Amino acid sequence: MKLPVLTIVVPCYNEEEVLVQTFLELRGVLNHLMQEQLIALTSKLLFVDDGSKDRTWSMITTEHANHPEITGLKLARNFGHQKAVLAGLEAACAHSDCVISIDADLQDDINVIRDFVLKFHEGFDIVYGVRASRKTDTWFKRASALAFYRIMTRIGIRLIPNHADFRLMSKRAILELCRYSETNVFLRGIVPLIGFTMTKVYYDRKERFAGRSKYSLRKMLSFALDGIASFSVVPIRFVSSVGFVLLIVSIVAGAYALIQKWFGETKAGWTSLMISIWFLGGLQLLGIGIIGEYIGKIFIEVKCRPKYAVDIDLYSIMFEPVLRSP
Ligand code: UDP
Ligand code: MG
Repeated sequence: MKLPVLTIVVPCYNEEEVLVQTFLELRGVLNHLMQEQLIALTSKLLFVDDGSKDRTWSMITTEHANHPEITGLKLARNFGHQKAVLAGLEAACAHSDCVISIDADLQDDINVIRDFVLKFHEGFDIVYGVRASRKTDTWFKRASALAFYRIMTRIGIRLIPNHADFRLMSKRAILELCRYSETNVFLRGIVPLIGFTMTKVYYDRKERFAGRSKYSLRKMLSFALDGIASFSVVPIRFVSSVGFVLLIVSIVAGAYALIQKWFGETKAGWTSLMISIWFLGGLQLLGIGIIGEYIGKIFIEVKCRPKYAVDIDLYSIMFEPVLRSP
């Protein structure tokens, strides 16, 4: 029986503080799985350097020189977590039967990787790692994540709650994923759309092993907005429905004001005037903002720009035939 080739994709952005430990632990897991004959001996770890400014890439190349099962892919600049994962998946898919993506900071439980592989052996194409608890997150991260999932479910986007990008995908699932050509990649939204058989594995998420979160508040907001605007037109519909309701309200209010003027007493309506100007002004700006968000998305998508650029690929060359002089 042929064993499946597994590649573990690890996106890294300025992770010099954690990498030594990450190399050690993930290499341990990979070797264990090989010894247990759950995966082929050609299985690899693929570290994707997402344009780091610290020693991340030099650490990857040094480790690659000492341990051939550790390979690297250097992106031409910082493209963001999602695109770094995608770059890794697309490169790995060419030479693997299944690929697992995991963050570099060891927050996700690496012991679950074995369960992922067992599920793959059972025949599942996609295995989601789902956090059983968020105890280690700050209250802000917990509250914002909860609000995010609530909003997403409310507007009809099917997400796997408490699942980050820690998952296993089979080769055919990744090939399907590659056919989604949008530039704005939001993997958590796209992967459930692929279909095939899927299952979940629960685990406890730990604190970052070292270093700080690379997701600033700005990056988190842009991630959430990308997720919403790339998958749903509900916000635009919401704006037009509010506009419609307000139109009716303003007709009624206008009629009332006229009746007051003709048959009653008119007061110096400064307060109501100010409130309505501010309220409507704010609402209009909100509407324009939401519409602008979609137009921005269309603008980016119609350009069909490549999602990322690879600078150095230490992974694929491992599989190239060796040239010998005759
Ligand atoms: N990351 C990346 N590019 C970025 C930001 C983050 O490749 O622009 C990587 C980072 O090195 C880590 C993973 O994505 O391996 C998740 O980032 P982080 O742990 O900072 O996010 P959090 O766990 O705080 O959501
Ligand atoms: Mg993290």
